[in-house]
Amino acid sequence: MSALFGEPVATAATGLAAYACHPHASRGRRFAEPEAPTRNLFQRDRDRIVHSTAFRRLVYKTQVFLNHEGDLFRTRLTHSLEVAQLGRSLARALGLHEDLVEAIALAHDLGHTPFGHAGQDALNECMSPYGGFEHNLQSLRVVDSLEERYPQFDGLNLCFETREGILKHCSQRNAQMLEEAEPGGVGARFLQRQQPSLEAQLCNLADEMAYNAHDIDDGVRSGLITLEQLQEVVLFNTYRLRVQDEFPKLSGRRLLYETIRRMLSDQVYDVMDSTRALLQEHAPACVDDVRRSPPLVRFSPGMRAASTELKHFLLHSLYRHPQVLQTTDWARQVVSELFNAYMNKPQDMPERHAKRSNLPRAVSDYIAGMTDRFATKEHARLTA
Ligand code: MG
Repeated sequence: MSALFGEPVATAATGLAAYACHPHASRGRRFAEPEAPTRNLFQRDRDRIVHSTAFRRLVYKTQVFLNHEGDLFRTRLTHSLEVAQLGRSLARALGLHEDLVEAIALAHDLGHTPFGHAGQDALNECMSPYGGFEHNLQSLRVVDSLEERYPQFDGLNLCFETREGILKHCSQRNAQMLEEAEPGGVGARFLQRQQPSLEAQLCNLADEMAYNAHDIDDGVRSGLITLEQLQEVVLFNTYRLRVQDEFPKLSGRRLLYETIRRMLSDQVYDVMDSTRALLQEHAPACVDDVRRSPPLVRFSPGMRAASTELKHFLLHSLYRHPQVLQTTDWARQVVSELFNAYMNKPQDMPERHAKRSNLPRAVSDYIAGMTDRFATKEHARLTA
């Protein structure tokens, strides 16, 4: 038989490297379920996430610009889709499991409050006497317990590998709490100082690449940062000069898009090259070897420095722009006033939240789940 017809068809599964997460070797779900006839475990997780209520809410949650400020700015939903796209491209090239990467990417921001980081900071402040609020841990709470879809269990009952990827950072205190509830579970690696799977590491970096790139775009669109300011950022300017060299008449939006496109694609190749080199050096034979190794999905040192410079620029020029800070002050006020209102009068929440025994956590979960516009409406109703 010729090689062409005799070889098994290359599928995502056969293209998997030994160090990838293999669905058949999964550490499984918290509640045993029969396998689906045609979908692997990670594919099924991805599908469960897409059908969840929390996922639909992402469309009305702020990334940087408040949802009502313009229709073209990224929301948590479009951000998550961009992370999934970058993640899948990288996963395919590195022999990692694309479905798992997609599941983690689509779920990574499910626990975000309304109004972006301002909302999270305000909620964390309100919750500080009661164990605090952390959006990453909240994403895990959403998929583990807050979604109500299935008759036999709370949450989405996702695989260990997907949950491991969703919990990208965790304080020692929270890790200890998770460990008590689930010994050897997703909290354990923070106590043992181990790494997550390569799929999880990859999503983490894809997240950074996605927001750096789209925040430049949104920042310029909003008028809060300019192309001239961006010329001081080495990474951006390198590609801008190359584009203008090739297309001297190009300006405005197309110049911006082409510069971002080249920057992003070079970052993808940079991650591929340095990750391949690290994989060769550490030679993990399986995912548990990966967990015991140092972080393996990384930028080259040069790209790391350039990306960090860009992040600093965005922090100072965009995220801390007076106009952004003005809206974040308002958002903080909305979240903390909502918190106080529900604490004083739990019956203003739907019954299933009001009747929970841990009131502060119930209030926190309820507020964290809100979209920007629902929070705004509720705030107007309760403070009228
Ligand atoms: Mg993100």
